[in-house]
Amino acid sequence: MAKPTIVIVGGGFAGLAAAKALRNTPAKVLLIDRTNHHLFQPLLYQVATSELAPGQIATPIRSIFRNQKNTTVILGEVTGVDKAQKCVIVSDADRQNVPIAYDYLILATGASHSYFGHNEFAEYAPGLKSLADAEAARNKILQAFELAEAEEDPNRHRDLLTFILVGAGPTGVEMAGALAIFVRSTLKSDFRRIDPASARIVLVDTAHVLGTFSESLSKAAKQRLAKLGVEVLLGHSVDQIDSDGIVVAGQRIASKTVLWTAGVAPSPAGKWLNAETDRAGRVRIQKDLTVPEHPEIFVVGDTASLDQNGKPLPGVAQVAMQQGRYAGKLIHNRIVGSPLPGPFSYFDKGTMAVVGKGFAVLQSGKVQVSGFGAWLTWAAVHLQFLATSSLRLSVFLQWVWTYVTGQRGDRLIVSHHDSAPVSTPVKEAVRGAA
Ligand SMILES: Cc1cc2nc3c(=O)[nH]c(=O)nc-3n(C[C@H](O)[C@H](O)[C@H](O)COP(=O)(O)OP(=O)(O)OC[C@H]3O[C@@H](n4cnc5c(N)ncnc54)[C@H](O)[C@@H]3O)c2cc1C
Repeated sequence: MAKPTIVIVGGGFAGLAAAKALRNTPAKVLLIDRTNHHLFQPLLYQVATSELAPGQIATPIRSIFRNQKNTTVILGEVTGVDKAQKCVIVSDADRQNVPIAYDYLILATGASHSYFGHNEFAEYAPGLKSLADAEAARNKILQAFELAEAEEDPNRHRDLLTFILVGAGPTGVEMAGALAIFVRSTLKSDFRRIDPASARIVLVDTAHVLGTFSESLSKAAKQRLAKLGVEVLLGHSVDQIDSDGIVVAGQRIASKTVLWTAGVAPSPAGKWLNAETDRAGRVRIQKDLTVPEHPEIFVVGDTASLDQNGKPLPGVAQVAMQQGRYAGKLIHNRIVGSPLPGPFSYFDKGTMAVVGKGFAVLQSGKVQVSGFGAWLTWAAVHLQFLATSSLRLSVFLQWVWTYVTGQRGDRLIVSHHDSAPVSTPVKEAVRGAA
């Protein structure tokens, strides 16, 4: 009998866990991703703030499965699913709309940014979701300091050195803390005309700092940010974002660097399947992670919606990994004829967020801790979940080096296209210097 084909779309936390759970399954596993790498998104902010290099938080998916002989990795973008014909539609740089047949399908396509209906903000406030986003944010931050150093008019320094982060969830808080340390310690001796430590970092949110954490941890994080010199502006949504900054609560804050660290929107998997979605657009799945009436189609991770104890499971890496593993195991058991596992149940190991150097908040059940101990736990957990041991070693050494010396290795402005035209202030500064 021909071996069944299991197609997994997405090599993120969920897709990777599913594929690994299928390593001994007598099946052909096809893992399709539109990028060639698995990305450790929780450390994207460290690439954006020059602490880590892109290659330290991402691994080629192909290399992860080099010894898993039943698994083939394909670089391609899935654009649809034909449920009747049981195939996914895939395009790549060479071929368009190629159908790939499946017996089982696992959709693990994650999420993208949501601008809450204000898509016009995207042009001025890029988000942080991919390696390219993190590099673009790093370029923007480093460029702001270069422009300020070249600018002879001190009145313009303030706008150039104001950094605004919209969204005070874990990404915004971690980014703000890292940026504060970066400008106040790493860059402090590198410039002559400007004082990098004078940079203004503003974190804006409609609600609270770390809204999904307990009130006391939220307060601890806010106090820590204040100590690091981050201005936290709560209780107002941003009305406008443009090339000159933002308008919030009727006030304009001038800035050349605005970053979007707020909402996420799921991938279009719900549309491909024509399936029921929740208000956020995530596919409503059953307790065995399948789509109703399609026991062969699983949706897992950030793009799925499942309630547990009356509340939707959060879009975090642990949920994605546990769901991926479960879907893989269930399919394996079906194929080999073993008893099927009971309904999926998420085991919450806790959530954490780091706020600058040597400080994190940690919440796990009734345990709520903040400070250095939480930070050590945060560091250990993040190292443990990096995809390979070489990344673990490399990131560990980099963190020790940065902790001890304050120096960061990856401070390059890398333009992937032709250089942008030199803006007027730089031209004037160059002329002035000549
Ligand atoms: C900046 C940031 C910080 C975060 N910090 C934390 C944290 O500290 N702790 C935590 O638990 N969680 C954190 N998260 C959330 C966590 O990263 C996600 O919950 C997790 O990545 C979800 O895993 P996933 O497999 O569902 O999706 P992803 O990891 O996003 O993977 C989706 C994969 O699908 C691929 N893909 C998407 N669409 C297609 C398509 N059409 N065709 C082919 N391939 C496709 C993508 O390339 C990607 O590889 C953070 C997220 C971000 C963005």
